[in-house]
This record gives sequence, structure tokens and C-alpha cells, in this order.
Amino acid sequence: MKRIFNFSAGPATLPEAVLKQAQSEMLEWSGSGMSVMEMSHRDKDFMSIAAQAEKDLRELLNVPAHYKVLFLQGGATAQFAAIPMNLLRGKTSADYVVTGSWGVKAQKEAGKYGKANIAARPGTFNRIPPLSEWKLDPNAAYLHYTPNETIEGVEFSFVPQSPGVPLVADFSSSFLSRPLDVSKFGLIYAGAQKNAGPAGLVMVIVREDLLGQALPITPSVLDYKQMADNESMLNTPPCYAWYIAGLVFQWIKKEGGLEGMARRNARKAGLLYDYLDSQSFYSSPVEKSARSWMNVPFILEDATLDDEFLKGAKQAGLSTLKGHRSVGGMRASLYNAMPEAGVQALIGYMKEFARTRG
Ligand SMILES: *Cc1c(COP(=O)(O)O)cnc(C)c1O
Repeated sequence: MKRIFNFSAGPATLPEAVLKQAQSEMLEWSGSGMSVMEMSHRDKDFMSIAAQAEKDLRELLNVPAHYKVLFLQGGATAQFAAIPMNLLRGKTSADYVVTGSWGVKAQKEAGKYGKANIAARPGTFNRIPPLSEWKLDPNAAYLHYTPNETIEGVEFSFVPQSPGVPLVADFSSSFLSRPLDVSKFGLIYAGAQKNAGPAGLVMVIVREDLLGQALPITPSVLDYKQMADNESMLNTPPCYAWYIAGLVFQWIKKEGGLEGMARRNARKAGLLYDYLDSQSFYSSPVEKSARSWMNVPFILEDATLDDEFLKGAKQAGLSTLKGHRSVGGMRASLYNAMPEAGVQALIGYMKEFARTRG
């Protein structure tokens, strides 16, 4: 067996310790005589796994008691629809700050259920527009933004203020990467497969007072109130993904919690950006103040070398560095589970490639 450094944007690398624990519990979970995959979700064994995962997530993020934590299916994309259906609450419009491709999709989907105003959107997705450019509607049902744009590698370094209007954030690709003050938000959501587990699970953390006014057409599985009342088990939940996410939460706690993750992530991203800024063979397309810790796009000065770069990287045990098909170039995703050794190996390879081809 040879595990390589996997820079995929998602599904993405998971902590090896988590995979090993899952392996050791694959055939029999804790004296239950069966795999987690085989358990009834109503069984007390699975209920304890689910409850522990929620408890650990609440602890990690210091989630206030008046917030519900939901474990749902359908990915962040289902939430693009669920959010307006649940949170318009009799209002006619919501504000969207669009700083990349996922924000575009969220805003478009919301437009099916109400008016989704674009409150700010830069011409090129390489920066965060200054607050002075935002056109916020004080009567909006909520303000939605994407703290980390996975494709363009553009990340907010601050939480925007939205006085009187609930703040809603798609944390899919930066969830649990650094400390977060949940009390500033009406709702945050994150697909698991970037930084918190396998695909098939999306977590929603929502302030209780926003629940219970979903549009009548809202499917039951997307209705936060119904899901909250049933502890995310209105129907069969994504049991195995929920269990693995629980193992990831425990791993994060062991590794120093979100402060520990922030230290690791700042160091890893710093190494790569410092190298990118130190030479001219490669460059970062993102403004310095908006550079993501999680997804680092970079381009080769000579794009005709892209294929050769990727082929050599693969041979060197550095996988999935191709940029998203919509933007081209390269992208290294440095989620929590990517060890610093992986970033060092990447920089070593980049230096050698530049030395021999430059
Ligand atoms: C990956 C991603 C999504 C889409 O997630 P799905 O699980 O495929 O629906 C949405 N938003 C962001 C920021 C993402 O990184």
C-alpha cells in the first residue's frame, strides 16, 4: 500500500488516523457484532455515534445552545435551495455577495424561490470587494456569502456584519479550518467532503428562531424545522458518513482543536504562498488579502508546460493538482488533513521542475 499526497479539492484527503480507526472498526463497531454501515439508525449504538458527533462538533465550534445542528443529505447544492425555502420567512428577497463560482450557483438557485439580489460581485474572482461596494438591502431576508471560494481560492479574512439581517454562509471548503464565532451567523452550512469527512453529508447549524416558517412547497427532507424536530432522522440519515465525520471531529480535538488547525493551516499555506511570491516561473492569481488557506490556485508562466507539470507531479506522488476546468492552471487544496510534509514535497517538486524547465 502506498498513500500519496492528494491535493484534490473534494472529495479530499482524510486524516490517516481516521481511516485506520474506521478500518479497525469496519467489521465490528465496539462490541456491537456489526459494522456501522449495517446498523439501524434507530438502534442505540448508532444513536450514540450520532449524538457523540454532534456533541464534539458543538464543542469544537462552541455552538451556542439556541442553535440546531443538522446532519443532512444532498450536499451544499441542496442547501442552495433549502436556504431560501426556509429563510425567506414571508420576505420577498435576499442578498448575495458573490465572490466566486459557488456563490454564483447559490444565487441562481435562490432565484427560483424569491428575489436573489447580487449585493456585490467583483468583475474578476480574485478579490473580496470592499464593504463600501456592497449594496445591502436592510429588508433582505438574509445575507448570503461564501467565506471560501473553492475554485478560485478566494477567502474572506473577516466575518462581514449584517445588522438586523441574518448572515448565512457556505463554509463547505473552510469548515473547521480555524476558530469561528457561530453567534455572528443565522445559519452556516458545509458539505463534509472537503474538510470534514466523506461525501454524502452536509452539516447545517441554524439559529432556532429562524425555523418554522418554511415555504409550503418545501420538501420535508429540506425543512429545517422538521429535520430538527426529528434529530436529522426524519428519514434514514447518511449513517456511515456521519460516523466518519464524527471520527474527524475527534481527530481535530486531539490535534489541538480549531486553534491547532489554524496554526497548521496558516503555516502550510504560508509556505506555498511564500514560494509562489519568491520567483516568476509560477504565480498566484489572487490578491494577497484574499488568498485562501485551503485552496491555492497557481499558474505556470508558460501554460504549454501544464501537462508535463501534472504528469511529473503524479509520478512524484502528488495527485490532483489540476485547476478546476472552469479556470485552468493548477490548484493545491491544503485541507486540515494535508500534512506539512505534503506541502514541502509539492514545493520541492515545483522548485525542481522550474529549475529544469525554466
Ligand atoms: C464543493 C462545494 C459546494 C458543492 O458541494 P456539493 O456537495 O457538490 O453539493 C458548494 N459550495 C462550496 C463552497 C463548495 O466547495
